Parts: sequence; C-alpha cells; structure tokens
Amino acid sequence: MNPMNRLIVATLPLVPKPVVRGIASRYVAGETLDDAMSTVTKLNAEGCMATLDVLGEDVTRREETEETVVAYARALDQIAVRRLDSNISVKLTALGLKLDPAFCRAQFSRIVDAAKGRDNFVRIDMEDSSVTEETIRIFLEFRERYEKVGLVLQAYLRRTAEDARRAAAVKANVRVCKGIYVEPPQIAFQDRNEIRDSFAATVETLLDAGCYVGIATHDPLLVERGKAAVARRRLRREAYEFQMLLGVAGTLRRRLVADGHRLRVYVPYGDAWYAYSVRRLKENPSIAGHVIRGILRGGR
Ligand SMILES: Cc1cc2nc3c(=O)[nH]c(=O)nc-3n(C[C@H](O)[C@H](O)[C@H](O)COP(=O)(O)OP(=O)(O)OC[C@H]3O[C@@H](n4cnc5c(N)ncnc54)[C@H](O)[C@@H]3O)c2cc1C
Repeated sequence: MNPMNRLIVATLPLVPKPVVRGIASRYVAGETLDDAMSTVTKLNAEGCMATLDVLGEDVTRREETEETVVAYARALDQIAVRRLDSNISVKLTALGLKLDPAFCRAQFSRIVDAAKGRDNFVRIDMEDSSVTEETIRIFLEFRERYEKVGLVLQAYLRRTAEDARRAAAVKANVRVCKGIYVEPPQIAFQDRNEIRDSFAATVETLLDAGCYVGIATHDPLLVERGKAAVARRRLRREAYEFQMLLGVAGTLRRRLVADGHRLRVYVPYGDAWYAYSVRRLKENPSIAGHVIRGILRGGR
C-alpha cells in the first residue's frame, strides 16, 4: 500500500460517516430489502447469480439477532416470490456465535429451516480466526441435516489445507477466498504469493474430491488459475462458479460471464453498512483518491 493510502486508512475513523457512505455506496445495495431486490434483479438480467448478505456482525446482545433472522426469512420469501436467482450468505457472529454458540445454533437453525422451505441454499461466511473451528463444526452439523448449506475457507490461514480435507470428506460446497481479517503470521500466510498458492491448492483439493467450489476472487492471476483448474478437469459449467463482490472488478466479471462461466455476486444490504464498507474501502487500491474526492464533495 502506498504511503498516502496508508495514511487515509489510518485516519478513516475520522472521516465523517456521510462521506464514507457516499464513496462506499458502490459496495452495498442499500439499506432495505427492496434495494437488495432491485440490485439482484439487475444482476440476474446481466447473467449473474447473487448471494444476499444482511449486514451486521459481532452482536453484543441476544435481542439483536432476532432482526437478522427475520430479515433473512423475508429475503428468502422475496427471492422465491420474485423468482430471482439468489441464495443467502450468513455471518454466525450476527447470530450470537461469540455470545453463546448454542443460542447461535438455534437462530441459525431457523434460517436453515426457512431456506429449506424455499429449497434455497445457505452459505456460512467465514469470519476471524477466533471462530474458525466453531464455524466449521456448525457447518458440519447442519450439513448432515440439510445438503444445501455451504462453507467458506480462507486461503491465508495455514490450517486451511487440513480444513479443505475435512470439507472434501463430506463433499462440501465451499467458497474459497483469500481472507479479509488481520491475522498474525503464526497462523496466517502474509506473503501475497503464498496466499495465492494456498488459494489455488485449496481449489484443486476440493475439485479433486468432487466438491462444488465457489472461486471467490478479483485477482486476475487466480481467476486464470481457477479457469485452468476447471478446464483440466473438463468440468461442466454447473459444477463450479466464480464469485465476486458487488462494486468490484466489473470488467473481469463481465468477461467471465461472456466466456460462459457461472458467476455469483455478493450483495450486502442493511443499515449496518459502515463496518463492511470500511473493510472494502481499505482493500480498494485507489482509496486515497476516492476518499479525498468524497471529502471535497461533502459526501454527496
Ligand atoms: C464473493 C466473496 C465472498 C467473500 N467472503 C469472504 C468471507 O466469508 N470471509 C473472508 O474473510 N473474506 C471473504 N471475502 C473477501 C476475500 O477474502 C478478499 O479479502 C477479497 O476478495 C480480496 O481478495 P482478492 O482475491 O480479490 O485479491 P486482491 O489481491 O485483494 O484483489 C485483486 C484485485 O481486485 C481489485 N479489488 C479488490 N478489492 C477491491 C475493492 N474493494 N475495491 C476496488 N477494487 C478491488 C483490485 O484491482 C485488486 O488489485 C469474499 C470475497 C468474495 C469475492
């Protein structure tokens, strides 16, 4: 990261929220379910599938989880009513994983039941390393009850090669991504190329086991390695998918769709947009320019 970007990232908490909101709006569909539905409708028209994320994580009170459960149930209803091509992605800490894992399981169970009622698929997002093991355990438990539950593995974690074997053993549906949280070198690769190699190796392990893999990256090199991995195995287009985040790498996304690959866009929405947007802004190579322009425009 260049010094200007580093400075901007360090001072981001001081940037007024309306300014952050203005420049981050490309990453979030909006605050309401209707906003999310319009975005998914547009993406479907462009030949992309979607996965909906009701924003929110790390709740500190049990009551806060109720809103999330209800929001996902409503989202699943609307996806079905409008016949949209979208599933859902759920963060377990939004359901109280860090407060009480048993309570979290009960709340997640309600979401899985709602998805089952609509024959839809639920992906469990992967969060920071303090919850990796419990998230995998919850995934394995629910996968026994309902086949359309999926996991995420983060290539930067050193443990991922072993976790990929655990996922492969149950032929899990896995999204592979680099990983977004800041993790120490003892448990996570820090070098860009080591992370890339781990990503590619994880995809290979899972594909070899016959798993359905979501190749979630905007890194052109990994997209090429993903394309090569599926081509070598002569996989049908229904046997894997690429995944990207809303507002990122539009050109690469359109190229993959034009080339005939299935591509799913991660569509976050809801009023808890701040933490998510800041994470995305920190990854944006032109963050400095965006933030400065945003401040000059007064966040409009
Ligand atoms: C569908 C999806 C789901 C994800 N789910 C999870 C999850 O559950 N847990 C988790 O820890 N992480 C998740 N991530 C985030 C992921 O771990 C990475 O942090 C993120 O995708 C960036 O890595 P990259 O592979 O795109 O490579 P990078 O090297 O970070 O990016 C490659 C290129 O993409 C472009 N780019 C990337 N980000 C931005 C941005 N914000 N704005 C503008 N351009 C950008 C740039 O041109 C950059 O050079 C998910 C990512 C995707 C695509």
